[in-house]
Amino acid sequence: MEQADLVVIGGSAAGLTAAITARRHYPGKKILMVRQEKQVLIPCGIPYIFGTVESPQKNLIGDAVLEKNNIELLLAEATDIDREGKVLHTTEGDVSYERLIIATGSRPAMPPIPGFDLDGVYAVVKDVEYLSGLQRRLETVEDVVIIGGGFIGIELGDEINKAGDKNVTIVEMLPHCLALAYDEEFCVEMEKVLESRGINLRTSSRVEKIAGDGKVEKVVLSDGAEIKADVVILGIGAVANVDMARKAGLRIGLTGSIAVDRTMQTSDANIYACGDCAEKISFFGGRPSPLKLASIATLEAHIAGANLFGIRRENVGTVGVWSTAGGKHALATAGLTEEMAEKRGYDVVAVTIQGPNRHPGLMPGAVNTRLKLVFERNSGVILGGQVMGGAAAGEVINAISACVQNRMTAEDIAMFQAGTHPALTASPIAYHMVNAAEMAIQQMRERGG
Ligand SMILES: Cc1cc2nc3c(=O)[nH]c(=O)nc-3n(C[C@H](O)[C@H](O)[C@H](O)COP(=O)(O)OP(=O)(O)OC[C@H]3O[C@@H](n4cnc5c(N)ncnc54)[C@H](O)[C@@H]3O)c2cc1C
Repeated sequence: MEQADLVVIGGSAAGLTAAITARRHYPGKKILMVRQEKQVLIPCGIPYIFGTVESPQKNLIGDAVLEKNNIELLLAEATDIDREGKVLHTTEGDVSYERLIIATGSRPAMPPIPGFDLDGVYAVVKDVEYLSGLQRRLETVEDVVIIGGGFIGIELGDEINKAGDKNVTIVEMLPHCLALAYDEEFCVEMEKVLESRGINLRTSSRVEKIAGDGKVEKVVLSDGAEIKADVVILGIGAVANVDMARKAGLRIGLTGSIAVDRTMQTSDANIYACGDCAEKISFFGGRPSPLKLASIATLEAHIAGANLFGIRRENVGTVGVWSTAGGKHALATAGLTEEMAEKRGYDVVAVTIQGPNRHPGLMPGAVNTRLKLVFERNSGVILGGQVMGGAAAGEVINAISACVQNRMTAEDIAMFQAGTHPALTASPIAYHMVNAAEMAIQQMRERGG
């Protein structure tokens, strides 16, 4: 029987990062990755297969990194965990372990909508062959309906729409696309961008059924409206892969993912879990969080991989940071929106600032950037932020995330030492984050008298 100090199940964002982190922290240990797919897709790059990068083959995580880090690979499906014997059963034989990391990720959620099994209905499965099949199918069709207006739905819609030869419709149940992660004014702006790029949006619309004679022909909404469809793509969320963990008797958490403590240890001290398959707690209040993101997966992997043979790190909880784009228009969020913060009972001060991200504003590449910061009124601590603008929004939000994670106050942010340059950033006089913090302080003072 094969033996390893560490066995990692899964080779995507969480599994790969956990294995590399373990190598960095424990140079002498034998590490084996068990992975079922031959080629691993960059999961977040999947929408871009259908437009910008052109094919699944151009969106892969190569295996060279495994060799470079002295990580052995077993291409097999892990089937059972014998916790007492510390043996993992796989389709290619058994492997004994000292420590096991489960990073089995997630699969697309399938809605209980009649007709979801018709020919021409696809989910966003992270598999090269499956997505190549969808890509081939898309080449022959005209009407594409995407169910779900979250970031996966809008990115897929925008990329599929790029060729200009299809009629793309996104159907969203909530009043706005992206409504679970952005305040309304940002959602509305992104919807305008998508519509200006030729995408049809049907918000506040519930899908009643997908209809067709063996093959999809239309999507029927609950108000009776019908949308012609040659292909339907479901983008309505993901479900954690926990069957093996459940069978092995590991504790499952409230969101249906593998329960872990702050060190990413499961209910078995020799087994860790990270990524989409692991339960998350919110940074704000500590309740279970349903978020599933690659950035969270890799953070958890950095914790799990470091803690295997001695606890070194703890998870402070999920802040929730991510960006999306419609063409060159970027939208980014970190932490709580104003609406989320109010719903949770915070007394909120929210400030929005708008202006170019270059100075003077006529500099090449200048993009009008809107930034919103949300603070708790009494403590002045930042709870979250949102940014809309050009590509730089993806990094501005990471600076905001650092402020949130460190529980910085509006006063701390007003004292932020930002570097500026005409061709690269907003003006030091009108630096968005700093001025938003100053305005928030002013509002807090006005309320306090
Ligand atoms: C279209 C799309 C776009 C996205 N965009 C973003 C983005 O922009 N930013 C962001 O942060 N997140 C994004 N996400 C979310 C992100 O992809 C996931 O959070 C991330 O993939 C989680 O990584 P993971 O390693 O936990 O799980 P997965 O990526 O699901 O990987 C699981 C791994 O485990 C393997 N595995 C599972 N079961 C077994 C078994 N029994 N035996 C052996 N191997 C097994 C799988 O084959 C795979 O290698 C996106 C997701 C999708 C679908």
